[in-house]
Amino acid sequence: MKQNITILGSTGSIGQNTLDVVSRHPERFAVFALSANHNVAKLLEQCLAFNPAYAVLMDGNKAHNLVDALTAQGSRTQVLCGPEALDQVAADPSVDVVMAAIVGAAGLSSCLAAARAGKRLLLANKEALVVGAQVFMDAVQKGGATLLPIDSEHSAVFQSLPTDKSTWATSVQKIILTASGGPFRTRDPATLQGVSIEEACAHPTWVMGRKISVDSATMMNKALEVIEAHYLFGLPPEKLEVVIHPQSVIHSMVEYVDASVVAQLGTPDMRVPIAYGLSWPERIASGAKALNFSTLSALSFESFADSAHRQRYPGLALAWQVLKAPSGSTAVLNAANEVGVGAFLAGEIGFLDIHQVNCETLSAYAPKAASTLDDLIAIDQEARRVALSLVAHLGGRA
Ligand code: NDP
Repeated sequence: MKQNITILGSTGSIGQNTLDVVSRHPERFAVFALSANHNVAKLLEQCLAFNPAYAVLMDGNKAHNLVDALTAQGSRTQVLCGPEALDQVAADPSVDVVMAAIVGAAGLSSCLAAARAGKRLLLANKEALVVGAQVFMDAVQKGGATLLPIDSEHSAVFQSLPTDKSTWATSVQKIILTASGGPFRTRDPATLQGVSIEEACAHPTWVMGRKISVDSATMMNKALEVIEAHYLFGLPPEKLEVVIHPQSVIHSMVEYVDASVVAQLGTPDMRVPIAYGLSWPERIASGAKALNFSTLSALSFESFADSAHRQRYPGLALAWQVLKAPSGSTAVLNAANEVGVGAFLAGEIGFLDIHQVNCETLSAYAPKAASTLDDLIAIDQEARRVALSLVAHLGGRA
C-alpha cells in the first residue's frame, strides 16, 4: 500500500529535496498535500507534477491566483488557505507521513496537529521543537506519533543509537554534534559586524534556505540543534557536546560509557536523512552520491574552546543557558533569533547584532512556565515584541 504524505513547506529547500526522494519511489509514496507561504509559481509546478489532493497557501490572494492557474491546467488539486489549513492537512485521517519543513515557529501548530493525530512526523522544522519543547514531546507521546529527525546531525545520532531507547540513559556517555563552522570559520572576528547578507548565506558545504544559512554562520543553528537533541534523545545538557568538523562528512556521533564512539558518515546531501525518515526502519535509495574514501583527504576537528571560535560564535553557549533556565526560555531564544535574523536579512541590523538581540531579549523577558500551545504562543509573541523593539533601537543606531 502506498503511503500518503503531506509536505509542509514543500517549496523550500527541504521540501524540494523531499519531493525529489518521493519521485524516486512512486510505488511507495503518494503526495496528499503540499504547502507554501507565498511561492505560487513553485507550488503550481509541484501540484502539476505530483497531483496532490490539497495545496495550501497562507495568503488569500495568492490562493486565488493558484486556483486560477490550476483550473487553467485542468488540475483537480483543491486549494486551501491559512494556518488552520496546515493543521487540517497535517492531521487528515488519510495521511500517513507528515514532513515538517516550514521554517520557524510558524510550523509549530501543524507539527502539533500531526503529533496529536499519531502520524509519522519527519521533523526538519527544529524551531517548532525548540519552541514547543516538552509540550511538543508530550503531544507526540499522547498522540502515539512516530517522531523521526531530519536534521542531518540528529538523523546521524538516531542512526548511531541502539533501537532500544530504554538503554540510552545508562549506556550513552555523550552525544557529539558536528558543525561545519559555516562561512566565517577562518574569518577575523573583528570584521564580522560588517559582513554582507550574501556572505552570511554562502554556506561552504550545504545548500539551504536563507534563515538556516544565517543561523549556521552565527552558530545559532547548532545552538537550536543542541536544544533539539536534548528533547529528542532525553539527555541532560551536560551530555551534549559540539565539535567543528569542516568537511561535513561525519554528521554526528554517540560516545558510549565504554569509550566506543559510533558515527554516521556521508556526503552532505539532505536527501540521505530525508530518505531514512521516509523509509525507517528500512532504507531506500536517496539519489545522493556515496562517499569516496580513496579521494577523501582528511577529516579534521576544531574545538569551540579555541578563543577565536568563542568570539566568532558567542551564540552557541546560549543553548545550555536556556536549557538550564525555566521552561519557555527556549521559546524566547528562538523568537529573538527569528526576529534578529529577519532584521539582518532585511538589511536593518548588522551580523553581530543578531547575538545582541538574542542576549538582551533573554535578559529582558523571563517567561512564566508553559504547559499549553496557547502559553507558548503568548511567550513567542511577547519575546518577538521585545526583540523587535531592540531591533528598532539597533537599526536606528546603525
Ligand atoms: P526554506 O526557507 O528553504 O523553506 C521554508 C518553507 O516554509 C517554504 O516552503 C516556505 O514557503 C514555507 N514558509 C515560510 N514561512 C512560512 C510561514 N510563515 N507559514 C507557512 N509556511 C512558511 O527553508 P529550509 O527548507 O532551508 O528549512 C526548513 C526547515 O528545515 C527549517 O526549520 C530548517 O532549520 C530545517 N532544516 C533545513 C535544512 C536544509 O538543508 N535546508 C537542514 C536541516 C534542517 P515559500 O517558499 O512560499 O516562502
